[in-house]
Amino acid sequence: MTFDELNLLPAVVQAVRDKGYVNPTPIQEQAIPVVMSGKDVIGSAQTGTGKTAAFTLPLLSKLEKHSPNCPRALILEPTRELAGQVDEQLVYYGQHLDLTKVLIYGGVKYGAQLQALEAGADIVVATPGRLIDHLQQKNLCLDHLEILILDEVDRMLDMGFIDQVADIVRYCPKERQTLLFSATLPDKIQSLANWVLTDPERIAI
Ligand code: AMP
Repeated sequence: MTFDELNLLPAVVQAVRDKGYVNPTPIQEQAIPVVMSGKDVIGSAQTGTGKTAAFTLPLLSKLEKHSPNCPRALILEPTRELAGQVDEQLVYYGQHLDLTKVLIYGGVKYGAQLQALEAGADIVVATPGRLIDHLQQKNLCLDHLEILILDEVDRMLDMGFIDQVADIVRYCPKERQTLLFSATLPDKIQSLANWVLTDPERIAI
């Protein structure tokens, strides 16, 4: 299979080609059509499988253009490092698109994050603690969110963030698409998945 067969936006496929990828990895081949179709996904895949592109490529293809109804997508990551890596991939794959985004994590001043939120970011990539702060201070509103991505949920559980993740989901509209990725699915994550996802497609690599 090639990236042309996945219904992605041509501008996104172009960026993938520029990067030198020829064929989608198994998780990309399985997840991209499901994400494009609008269905929820519960994916168990490790880092290194091409998981990030499996959700960033269809996400960018679906959002396509900047909208005044911001933000439309939220990606939660357990660490600042992972959030930064996802952000870098969004920059690269989204280089031909007119989309705005903001990276939100703790341990730094609020100023630049606030400015980006006020300017209107289509995509928010965040770690849970600082995002909760912004939500409580009403610095952002998730009422227009279309896609919620919970990545590396087993690590969020290990790091004690799972209740914060659940709190963030409660700020999101019920009508949305949700993708949940976790290398393992212990009971606590399965029960989160039960109320966070609607009729999800299971993808395991
Ligand atoms: P990830 O699992 O998202 O951390 O990706 C692991 C590595 O695989 C990253 O360095 C990606 O740049 C790379 N990668 C992702 N998709 C592909 C692909 N289709 N072909 C070759 N490399 C890829």
